[in-house]
This record gives sequence, structure tokens and C-alpha cells, in this order.
Amino acid sequence: MTVNSADSHVLEPSDLWLRNTPAKYRDRTLRVERDGDREAISIDGVVIRRNPVDTSGKVRAPGQGDPVARLHDLESQDVWAELMFPSLGLWLPMCPDRALSLELSRVYNDWLLDGFMSVSPRYIGAAIIPIVDIVDAVSEIERAAGLGFQAVNLPAHAPDERLYNEPAYEPVWSAIESTGVRMTSHVGTGADPVVARGRGGAVINYTETFFPPQRLIAHLVASGVLDAHPQMHVIVVEGGASWLPALMERMDEGYTQHGMWARPKLSALPSEIIRRQVHATFQHDRALLSTIDVTGVESLLWGSDYPHFEGTWPNTQH
Ligand code: MN
Repeated sequence: MTVNSADSHVLEPSDLWLRNTPAKYRDRTLRVERDGDREAISIDGVVIRRNPVDTSGKVRAPGQGDPVARLHDLESQDVWAELMFPSLGLWLPMCPDRALSLELSRVYNDWLLDGFMSVSPRYIGAAIIPIVDIVDAVSEIERAAGLGFQAVNLPAHAPDERLYNEPAYEPVWSAIESTGVRMTSHVGTGADPVVARGRGGAVINYTETFFPPQRLIAHLVASGVLDAHPQMHVIVVEGGASWLPALMERMDEGYTQHGMWARPKLSALPSEIIRRQVHATFQHDRALLSTIDVTGVESLLWGSDYPHFEGTWPNTQH
């Protein structure tokens, strides 16, 4: 069976931003350094320290760094097209500075266009959109759409002081709808994913990554954003999908049982809006098979996470 992947990645060179941001940003641009046995990713004074990816016993996909060889990897897995996200670039929303965050996003978006999207129409890039400033977000959405991007990625974790239900984002939603790009939100973007250290940390932190997408959907649906922008579609990526029916039921319950307080009024139940305009990607989510009659098929998108080690390569069809 030939499939499309709604969750794939590119592996950017670690010096992509060092080489391509203007000299005045040299000390603040995204850089990757070793810090003892850990890896430190710094952007404008924000430092994320993590254990380097453990490559022991793992086989790298031959096409992971080469857009032509990559097509052979896709053939071998019977994957046709890929919706592509960054790897290092997932950290870009951590940049707190307005001008620099726009610059960093543009460096990535231009590199993805030149290096992958121009090689094959099967490579469908998600442009990284900075949201430090709304005017800049709109301008990068419009620029990306003009360059041929069909998707834009906004951080899964909205800034605490500016959640996604706030009217300040209205120009962003209008730009997404009017350009026709799909809004995506990959897990692990917009906040340090290390929530807990010590006991249970690894599993806690992995589990925590699928809460922000649920919050994002709740905010966009309950605040009336998706209702007011019926052409807008949202794809939440790498958070699994079997929680979707629970969210639909919970939101319907809130909207009906607490209806006297529910503002704004929606033209349909939250579950109907989700079914119409929200999509979630999964890799190994067996539980969702039992709830397809609740979510509908179109809400569910498969993703390979190629070429990350947690992805399905080289066993995509098994
Ligand atoms: Mn992914």
C-alpha cells in the first residue's frame, strides 16, 4: 500500500544558522555545542541541554541527508509524499527576540525550499512561523505561501502570556485561511519539553508532549476561531490520535452542560468542528482503530517520523 507521511523530518546541518544569519546576530543565533557528555543548543541566551541522540545499534537511513537518495528511501517504504518538519529547527520558537526569531525562521524556510522542495513535489515543507510578533508571523505566512509552502508550523505550546484563544492572533488565523496553507503544530515546540527531572522523568516528559496539542485544539475550537475560519485546517503532529474522541466528548460536555456560560456560541458542536477541521497524526496508535466512527477517517493522518530513530523506517509496511 502506498501511503503519504504527515510527519517527516529533515536533519539540518548543525551550523545552518551560524552560516546564514547576518553577522550582527552571530553571538545569538542557534548553535549546537558539546557540554561535557551532553549537547547544548543555544538561541539568544536560551540554552537547552539534552543527552545526545543515542545512535548505538541504530542504522541511519541512507537518504537522511540527501534529497535525491531520500527518494529511494521513500520508494523502499512505499511512501509517496512527506509533510516535512525540521529537527534542530523545532527549537526556533524558543527564541525570545522579535527580529532574530524572524531571521532564524527565514533561514530555515529558504534552506528547506532550495534543498528539498525544489527537488521534488513529493517534499511538502511546513514553514516555521515566528510568533513573537503577530505582524512578523503574518508576513512570514504570506511569504511562505508565495514561495509554494502548503503548510506552516506554529508552536504547540503558546506563550503563557498569550494563549491561542486570544483575539491578538486574529490576523494570523486570517492569513492562514486566506492563503490556504494548513496550520501544523509539531509536538515539542514552544517550550522546554523537560517538565520533570529525576524519578520517571523520561516517561513523564515523553507523555507531556501530547498535552499541548490537546490544549491548542481546545483553545482554537472553544474560542470560535475554527468556526469563524471554516477553511482553516489544523494538523497536530506526533502526538498520537487516540485521545481525540475523549477531547471531543469533553468539549461537547462543557459546551452543552455549561451552555449558559459558554461564549462564544458556535455554529456546531465542538466535536463536529474538530471532525471537520482538525487532524492528528499517529505512528503506532492501535487504540484509535476502535474509535474511528467517532473521529471519522479524515481526522487521522499517518506519519513515519522518518528519518528519526523513533520513526517507522525501515519497517514502514509492517
Ligand atoms: Mn515528528
